[in-house]
Formats: sequence, C-alpha cells, structure tokens
Amino acid sequence: MSFEKLNLIEPILKALKTEGYTTPTPIQEQAIPLVLQRKDLLGCAQTGTGKTAAFAIPIIQLLTENKVATQGKKTIKCLVLTPTRELAIQIEESFNNYGRNTNLKNKVIFGGVNQHAQVEALRAGVDILIATPGRLLDLMNQRHVDISNIQFFVLDEADRMLDMGFIHDVKKVIAKLPAKRQSLFFSATMPPVIQSLADTILVNPSKVEVTPVSSTAEKINQVVYFVDKENKKHLLIDVLKDKAIERVLVFTRTKHGADKVVKDLIKSNIKAQAIHGNKSQNARQNALNNFKSKITRVLVATDIAARGIDIDELSHVINYELPNVPESYVHSIGRTGRAGASGIAIAFCDAEEKAYLKDIQKLIGKTIPIIDDHNYELKNHTVVKAAPKPQRNFSNRPPKRGHTTSSNSFEKKQSNSVNREASGAKANGVRSEQGRSENTSKPKKNWFGRERRER
Ligand code: AMP
Repeated sequence: MSFEKLNLIEPILKALKTEGYTTPTPIQEQAIPLVLQRKDLLGCAQTGTGKTAAFAIPIIQLLTENKVATQGKKTIKCLVLTPTRELAIQIEESFNNYGRNTNLKNKVIFGGVNQHAQVEALRAGVDILIATPGRLLDLMNQRHVDISNIQFFVLDEADRMLDMGFIHDVKKVIAKLPAKRQSLFFSATMPPVIQSLADTILVNPSKVEVTPVSSTAEKINQVVYFVDKENKKHLLIDVLKDKAIERVLVFTRTKHGADKVVKDLIKSNIKAQAIHGNKSQNARQNALNNFKSKITRVLVATDIAARGIDIDELSHVINYELPNVPESYVHSIGRTGRAGASGIAIAFCDAEEKAYLKDIQKLIGKTIPIIDDHNYELKNHTVVKAAPKPQRNFSNRPPKRGHTTSSNSFEKKQSNSVNREASGAKANGVRSEQGRSENTSKPKKNWFGRERRER
C-alpha cells in the first residue's frame, strides 16, 4: 500500500515525500479512506502508531477541497482537543508539515503561558485550532474563540483526558459544538466510561483499531533489573556506561523523583534534564529541544509529562520506578520503538514494586527477562511469574484480521526489533522466562479508578 493509493491530493503527497514517509501505517491505511468518505471515526490507537497523520491528512484534504476554507475571513473549521501541551504542539507541527503546500492556517493554544499571543493569532484568522481543554474554555468564555463553524472535531487521547481530570471541560466544549460536523475520537483504551463518551459524540461511527496496548509491548525488547531502592541511582549510572545508549528517556513516578535523578546524573557528569508538570512551559520545551538535538543525553520525565513525546530514533527507555498503573508502563516503553524503530526498555524494580511488576506482566501477558548479572542485585527476590493476560480490545473480541498484523514495511520493521538482543544488558545475565500464558475471560479491571496523577 502506498499513499498514492489512498487518493490523496498532490500537495499532500508532496508534503509526505518531504517528510520521508513512503508507506501508510496500519491506522492511516484504515482511517484515511473513512474520514475522506465523511464518516465519524472511533479509533483505538495510542501515540506511536501514526494516528496524528491518520486524522490530520484527510482533514487537510477535505478542507483544501472545500473552497470556502480558503476564501474570505478565516473561521475555525477544525478543532483538535488533546490533553497535554506537548501533544498539542506536536499535533500542530504535524498539521504544519502535512499541510505545508496548502493555504490552511493552524494554531495551537494551551495553558501555562500568557494568552496574548494566542489571542492575536486567533484574531488574525485560523482554520485549524489545536487546543488543550482548559485554555480553550478560558478563551471561549472570553469570546476569543468561536467554535460555531466547526466542521471537524477531533478528540485525541480520550482516556488520558479522563485520567487527567479534563473530562468535564471536554464535555463543556462538546456542548458548544455545532450538531452538524464530522467527529473523530481516539483513545488508547476503551473502558465503558470512554465508550459512552464516544457514543455521545459520534454518529454511526466506523471503528478502527490497531496494536492494542498490550500487544505494543511485544514489539519492544524488555528487561528488568531487581535492585534495592537506594541503589537505583548507582545502577542507572552503571547502565549508562553502555555507549550504545546514546539517548535515553528515564521515567519516574513523581516530579520530585525526576528532579532527584537529574541531580544524581549531573553529579556524575551525565547531561540530564527533567520534564514534568511543575516546570514552566518554556523549561519543558527547552528540555525537550535539548534532548531532541542531543545536547542532553538523558531526559527524565513523569509518565504524564512524557505522554505523546515524539522523539525520532529513541532507542532506550528506562523505567527507573515502576508505575503503579500497568498501562502507564506500556505507554512509557512505547516512547521507544515508534513508527517502526526498534526499542529497548529497561525496568528497575525494587522490593516494594514487585506487585506492580506482577500487574504489568499480567497486562502484557509475558514475563520480562531478568538481568541478574549486575553490581546492585536485590537479595532474596522471588521471581514473579506472568499472570493470565486479560483481553484489552474494543469489545473483548480478538483483533480482526489485518488490524494488528500488517504486511507493510512499518509493521515488519517493528516485528524485526523483537529479535534484537537487548543492549545495555549483559546477554549472559538474561534469564529467559518467556512462558506466555493463555487468555482467560476474567473481567477487566477498571484502572481509571486508581491514582494516576503526577505527585
Ligand atoms: P503519532 O502516533 O502520530 O504520534 O506518530 C508517531 C511518529 O510516527 C511520528 O514521529 C510521525 O512523524 C511518524 N510517522 C507517522 N506516520 C508515518 C509514516 N507513514 N511513515 C513513517 N513515519 C510516520
């Protein structure tokens, strides 16, 4: 499958060539034709699958074909709601990139910064607005944003909106949207509460589903080190002696923890910066830019801050602390292995985190190989075996043929990475305990009930 086969217009095909994209990802292959047919869409996909282009490309095409879009005073015709500032910025970049050969104007608005520049840009006229919910509502209430002419509405990362407590703001925005519109709804997971939100937004939607959260984990080489809490900093420095780790994203559970890891690394002359909710928008962007341009080797982040961070060629991710929500682990390791790149995910597990490891292994349906040949091994640890894997698809049905397996190069590249030996780990120290367990019909846990906010 090529982009040409998707009946895309020349300006978009040209932009995709500039981006270096040759093959649509599975979600693009499925979603682009549906959106072009003016269907509402329910997409079960997480970041890293190419979902941004899956909605941005057909929207750009439809708006470009619709002559009204390029004549007279610009009104907002497309609204994309996304939970974090980083994601919002990345989505705007995507619209800019894919729409570079069109006349469409994009603008991103988010909180935590002065609203003046955003208001000025809105006044000048915008076709596509990408926003976080709080700032959007603020500007709507001040009458700087008019969403009464919206033709396309995209709700991105719906589960994360709920998780971050934005769902009421989202509902307030939805209440103000015109009834006649095309809506696209994306979520990495589809618990009942998200499904019912989708039902209120979408009309007779087409469903697309790619790489459910648990199967994403299978494409990444994962290892775990058992280590005492107080030795994690020493182990991290040891692990970073491996020159193969050119750049690494390190996850901590808390903002304070992220700052502490940065301090420890800097003391050992390792260039590191933190990114989390207590940092100003400028500090976060600066940390991200330095990491992207390889000025810093280590970016330390909390899960929520790192959500959606899009860094090409990120080979390694370290979970310095294991998240208490297993889906967060899968999202964090998904920062590597994006868009076909291979990835290695290293987890540090202390005695108290063994229960979290057990939950993670249950979700991904396998036991993560242990590196036990290192200088800081946790004494007297028992091996935690993988528990049965629950089904995590839309409707507890097995994924449809062609949805999670694809013959295109994007997917092939991903699966090749499974066979690579984990670097940063001493091969002879890897205990292989793969034993995949069979599916059961055990009901899903409602993980949204648990604490997921940054502390
Ligand atoms: P997303 O899931 O939208 O966050 O996209 C993840 C990454 O995949 C981004 O870096 C995109 O630039 C990249 N990407 C999206 N579509 C393609 C494609 N068809 N070919 C190669 N890379 C892509």
